[in-house]
Amino acid sequence: MAYELNKKLKSIEPYDPGTGDYPIRLDANESCFNITDKLGEVISEAVKKVEFNRYPDPAAKEVTEAFAAFYGLKPEHCTAGNGSDELISLILSSFLDKGDTVVTLSPDFSMYAFYGFINELKVKNMPKEEDLKIDVGKVAEFCNNNDVKAIIFSNPCNPTSLGVRRQDIIRLVKNVFCLVIVDEAYMDFWGESVLDMTEELDNLIVLKTCSKNMGMAALRLGFAVAGETITSALRGAKSPYNVNAITQAAAAAVLRHKPMIMEYTAELIHSRKMLQAAVTELAERYFVIEKVYDSVTNFIFIRTPKAKEICERLLQKGISVRYMGSYLRVTAGTERENSIFLSEFKEILSLL
Ligand SMILES: *Cc1c(COP(=O)(O)O)cnc(C)c1O
Repeated sequence: MAYELNKKLKSIEPYDPGTGDYPIRLDANESCFNITDKLGEVISEAVKKVEFNRYPDPAAKEVTEAFAAFYGLKPEHCTAGNGSDELISLILSSFLDKGDTVVTLSPDFSMYAFYGFINELKVKNMPKEEDLKIDVGKVAEFCNNNDVKAIIFSNPCNPTSLGVRRQDIIRLVKNVFCLVIVDEAYMDFWGESVLDMTEELDNLIVLKTCSKNMGMAALRLGFAVAGETITSALRGAKSPYNVNAITQAAAAAVLRHKPMIMEYTAELIHSRKMLQAAVTELAERYFVIEKVYDSVTNFIFIRTPKAKEICERLLQKGISVRYMGSYLRVTAGTERENSIFLSEFKEILSLL
């Protein structure tokens, strides 16, 4: 008998992280700085102390305390995960029952719908406004009228690069009955966080990651921040040794260097501003660039009907950016990376 996969696995569309070895990678929104350049010693000292024969601390106490201190939170409100990806899946699978409705907005991070699907939830997708902004009032109304159990979205948004202000997020959370999961993966590039509201709002979970401004995507570490009831449920539902000991030790050491992380973050913001200004200038000359969105992240989002062609031509030059339908998403890189991207981009535009 030939083994047959179930229906959902047969129909799944795996996440495509983009493959290939390109010298200039501006496609994954990672930090362009390698933190080991400055903290190599600190990290290797921390990793040396790891007892490789022992299971990691299931509560990830040390790194959770370092994370909480970094953002001025109580460690009792923070749960560590194997990347925020694990936490997205864990929250959707444990706080919702099979067949429950979760709302996603589009365009947004594709993993929300992916994990919703894997966990056999009903994923209701609500398109954003024409300008790709979110109408918080409409979203709240939709949630309250459709027996929705949770809504999940990124703020600022990947891929649109746009942000919703703190007051509007708070208004949303206060006006719906369901769980609200706000993924603040890029919030350190902006400053409209609702992290401090998790104690007061008992239906709010804020997700954070060490993969973006902190430059530790390789370690796979994220946190869910929420009030006591949600946090203790989450800790009870997670797999016991979800964050490995090397990650716990290395990240705890890095998180204690807040000024350095803040410095890198500021540099990334600066890089994005330069990139945004340069591409906006190109848009005045080359009408094929229809719009450059007002980014509050470490990447820019461009609307162009030639997105696919531009992306393919950039790949031929060894530069990878993300193409999504009629949009391009370009991560801010080092000064050198940005300038190589810009000169090739300009050349391609002039040939189109
Ligand atoms: C990159 C990103 C993450 C980070 O996920 P990790 O699993 O922590 O690396 C989460 N959410 C969004 C919207 C992202 O773009």
